[in-house]
Amino acid sequence: MFNLLLHICCAPDLTAPFERLKEDYNISAFFYNPNIFLEEYNKRLSEFINLNKKLNLKFKIGRYDSLGWHKSIKGLEKEKEGGKRCLACFKFRLEKTAQTAKENKFDFFSTVLTISPHKDAEIINAIGENLAKEYQIDFLKFDFKKQEGFKRSLALSKEYQLYRQNFCGCIYSLRR
Ligand code: SF4
Repeated sequence: MFNLLLHICCAPDLTAPFERLKEDYNISAFFYNPNIFLEEYNKRLSEFINLNKKLNLKFKIGRYDSLGWHKSIKGLEKEKEGGKRCLACFKFRLEKTAQTAKENKFDFFSTVLTISPHKDAEIINAIGENLAKEYQIDFLKFDFKKQEGFKRSLALSKEYQLYRQNFCGCIYSLRR
């Protein structure tokens, strides 16, 4: 079975993609989200760890490089959600996922970000494919919101009694 490093933004968004991929890939979940402000980050990280234990899933936690993330979106703070700040944010998180997958000899990397109805899968997949060329490691393209994926994540989050936030994660999305 192929080894997949799967970037995870929060526990609810891991649920349905895990269900969809678990028979075909040996998954390691990678929590890398320095975009999230600290109080919220700690909540999501703790929920992520609890869910991984329930699913018996291997996981990695990336460094909370909040300074690096802020540098990567400098000048874009006032962009609206879905705009240039989000593109830089996707790239920042996917780049670390690609680097980590390469260093640890995974066959593929990917992300669950596409499950959100607010996120454009084409944009996220294009960023992943560019990074795949740069880091010489294959990227798996998905749009997890398709085939009722988002709806399924809501049902599974309820079943697992997960904390589900109603904003994206950075301080700018909170002030929206
Ligand atoms: S709104 Fe979400 S994707 Fe956009 S910059 Fe903030 S955390 Fe990143």
